Amino acid sequence: MARLHFEDSAYQNRDTETVLDTLLRHQVSVPYSCRNGVCLTCMLRCSEGPVPAAAQKDIRETLRIQGCFLSCLCHPIADMTIGLPDDSLVFGRATVTAVDKLADTICRVRLLPAMPLYYHAGQFVNLHRSDGLVRSYSLASLPRADSDLELHVKRLPGGAMSNWIFESLVPGAALDIDGPHGGCYYLAEESDRPLLLIGNGTGLAPLFGIARDALASDHLEPIHLYHGTRYSDGLYLDRELRAMATAHDNFTYVPCLSGDEVPAGCRRSRAERAAFADHSALADWRVYLCGSPAMVNKTKKLAFLAGAALADICSDPFEMTDKRAVPRD
Ligand SMILES: Cc1cc2nc3c(=O)[nH]c(=O)nc-3n(C[C@H](O)[C@H](O)[C@H](O)COP(=O)(O)OP(=O)(O)OC[C@H]3O[C@@H](n4cnc5c(N)ncnc54)[C@H](O)[C@@H]3O)c2cc1C
Repeated sequence: MARLHFEDSAYQNRDTETVLDTLLRHQVSVPYSCRNGVCLTCMLRCSEGPVPAAAQKDIRETLRIQGCFLSCLCHPIADMTIGLPDDSLVFGRATVTAVDKLADTICRVRLLPAMPLYYHAGQFVNLHRSDGLVRSYSLASLPRADSDLELHVKRLPGGAMSNWIFESLVPGAALDIDGPHGGCYYLAEESDRPLLLIGNGTGLAPLFGIARDALASDHLEPIHLYHGTRYSDGLYLDRELRAMATAHDNFTYVPCLSGDEVPAGCRRSRAERAAFADHSALADWRVYLCGSPAMVNKTKKLAFLAGAALADICSDPFEMTDKRAVPRD
């Protein structure tokens, strides 16, 4: 059994526990959010001892070589000396330039990072509130076209970060961000493959960025974007996406509504059902799935069964398994 040396204390790791489990069992205050290796909030740094490869696989190279790892995925194989990563390794400062309401419960936040952020549309950043609350948001902006980062935030009943963004975040405010993270983005070298993009709710944010990236890269094959929500108010980029479809022959936008009222021009269906009804053979396609974990996980299997290779299915489930975030001191 490994021992974990954290600050001035040592903690015994139990066989089935991750590093994060052990620290939380001992009431050690460390940041975390999804506990599933997706949001990267729980990143720690190891200064002594081996780091299992599985705990570093989604971390960018510069952080990996400095010993950063995801504590929620790390099952220690020997004693480790660990700590919070240096803020300068992880955080950047950004200024809010706009907060605009796109629908009743959806707003667009624009941020200008103090240092240039090298990212792909569709990746995500973590926003840090000054009390330590951290949440992930996907990048809808396109680096070569937009000077600001663009995020789409859904307001959730009782949601700590999303309500704060709606009620208190104003232009001029400064925030810490870390990122970019994630592998859900357009690959320009694959311009000769059809793309299927399926998202629900604000799962549209990364897909909007990916679709714009593909079109700006002169993608040769068809790009089909299915956006699902319950009410028409949730089709919050309807106008922009219809205009994109008019401007580009190879881009199709299919707005899908699962509620009772379905205006002309929208499909009465969930996005994934409509997508598979239209496209049932996906060999050689690249598939992007973003939004609620239930939809993403279910649709991943359907895409695989329809012939897409697992390596060709990029997904960003908006994991929210654990709602508690412990403030950093
Ligand atoms: C990689 C990644 C990318 C993400 N990108 C985006 C994005 O672009 N836009 C975006 O809006 N969100 C995105 N999320 C989700 C986001 O990080 C937050 O989890 C979300 O904004 C809720 O945070 P909160 O603090 O407001 O709510 P919390 O305080 O965490 O939760 C408050 C309440 O809401 C409930 N709740 C949580 N999730 C849901 C849900 N899906 N539906 C209904 N109730 C729920 C909880 O049970 C709880 O009662 C992403 C998540 C990940 C992991």
